[in-house]
Amino acid sequence: MSQSFDVVVIGGGPGGYIAAIRAAQLGFNTACIDEWKNDKGGPAPGGTCTNVGCIPSKALLQSSEHFEHAGHHFADHGIGLKDLSIDVAKMLGRKNTVVKQNNDGILYLFKKNKVAFFHGRGSFVKAVDGGYEIAVAGDKPETLIAKNVIVATGSNPRALPGAAFDEENILSNDGALRIPAVPKRLGVIGSGVIGLEMGSVWRRLGAEVTVLEALPTFLGAVDQQIAKEAHKAFTKQGLKIELGVKISEVKSDKKGVTVAYADAKGAVQTLAVDKLIVSIGRVANTIGLNVEAVGLKLDERGMVVVDDECRTNLPGVWAVGDVVRGPMLAHKAEEEGVAVAERIAGQHGHVNFNTIPWVIYTSPEIAWVGQTEQQLKEAGREYRAGTFPFMANGRARALGDTTGMVKMLADAKTDEILGVHIVGPFASELIAEAVVAMEFKASSEDIARICHAHPSLSEATKEAALAVDKRTLNF
Ligand SMILES: Cc1cc2nc3c(=O)[nH]c(=O)nc-3n(C[C@H](O)[C@H](O)[C@H](O)COP(=O)(O)OP(=O)(O)OC[C@H]3O[C@@H](n4cnc5c(N)ncnc54)[C@H](O)[C@@H]3O)c2cc1C
Repeated sequence: MSQSFDVVVIGGGPGGYIAAIRAAQLGFNTACIDEWKNDKGGPAPGGTCTNVGCIPSKALLQSSEHFEHAGHHFADHGIGLKDLSIDVAKMLGRKNTVVKQNNDGILYLFKKNKVAFFHGRGSFVKAVDGGYEIAVAGDKPETLIAKNVIVATGSNPRALPGAAFDEENILSNDGALRIPAVPKRLGVIGSGVIGLEMGSVWRRLGAEVTVLEALPTFLGAVDQQIAKEAHKAFTKQGLKIELGVKISEVKSDKKGVTVAYADAKGAVQTLAVDKLIVSIGRVANTIGLNVEAVGLKLDERGMVVVDDECRTNLPGVWAVGDVVRGPMLAHKAEEEGVAVAERIAGQHGHVNFNTIPWVIYTSPEIAWVGQTEQQLKEAGREYRAGTFPFMANGRARALGDTTGMVKMLADAKTDEILGVHIVGPFASELIAEAVVAMEFKASSEDIARICHAHPSLSEATKEAALAVDKRTLNF
């Protein structure tokens, strides 16, 4: 016997579970299928984000930051500590608890919103009259009939050719989040968000970390003034970053991993490490979806092809999140999930790609929204820039964290804010003001005239806005 639904979502990551909740809120009879298993084989909805991505990485970043503060900064506050140590098993256990709280939270939300949850792999069987037949393969095989299908099957880590992940020595994000003891030497290939965050965790805990990056520019997508400031801070902390390298071979054995590469000058080098994290991007995941059965179109990179509104080539089939074009970010996946559910309901769901914030949760944190100075230059757009250093911010001084700055870019004629770039304490939180401002098409003068609490880090944003008009008050 098959069960019929208005909406069936395949994948329960941030794109999928949020789409399912919104569809149910809109009155649709909704199901969500997710195959992720916890260590006991039970359901673990939340996808990459909850299980091996955003949430566990932030849990470990928090633990390792506490350790770093205790070891290096508490003394400045007059706090003495003897015999500081790290219990990695306990730290990983705490991280697992945080993950489970999030898994359970999603299962609770499904119940609350009356979303039918199916634990197993969902795949297309065939198109049927007015919809699609979907098979669920799992502990309890099921057949579902869906009027509308939302594909939200996410992404998988990309492996380096010739260096398959074994999660013992050569680690994806999954293995990087459960290294059982602090490695003496850790290699990271790829200086993107994931590589820098994971490298930071284990460096803070005592590993000697070397990051190898193929591109000649550090954080090429980030405003280069901000990227340079971050590079300076990371290098000072002891993170070794080599740019412009070309990896030729990765060998792994019981003793560890050896990476042979040519450095930026072309000289042959070898890096010997105990563990190697490979974070060179992610690939869309449509494994097991049986797209051929219904003719769902994929592009040459394996992503589901969608239009601006997440419609696929098939009527009633939509796709959101990492499995489609656009930034691979949890909040982008969520926004698309909500918008698609609303479009199915005949509403005008909307995602503004120009105001999606980006955050790198290193220390200092890096966050930005909108265009970088190099993008504005390339586009020939006239702009004015204002920067304000945290060194001149009272709250940052009190926190003992004065690295970095806020930088604001505004149109030279209209003064509309075109981009805000932050490197420094709590950049991940500060960026929200800039996102709101840009959504409402604020000018830098608007931010400059808004009262900001004192002392607060947000005053640096106000001062950066004042700096656009060359009238900072505290610098
Ligand atoms: C280490 C790391 C840190 C990250 N940190 C951040 C961050 O701080 N902020 C941020 O915004 N983003 C972060 N990301 C990216 C973020 O995790 C992804 O962008 C986000 O998870 C994408 O959501 P999604 O719903 O598209 O896919 P996913 O989260 O990948 O979820 C897809 C789900 O679908 C399931 N699935 C796949 N195929 C099937 C099938 N056929 N049947 C049933 N189920 C299926 C999968 O098991 C999975 O549960 C991070 C990623 C990593 C790896």
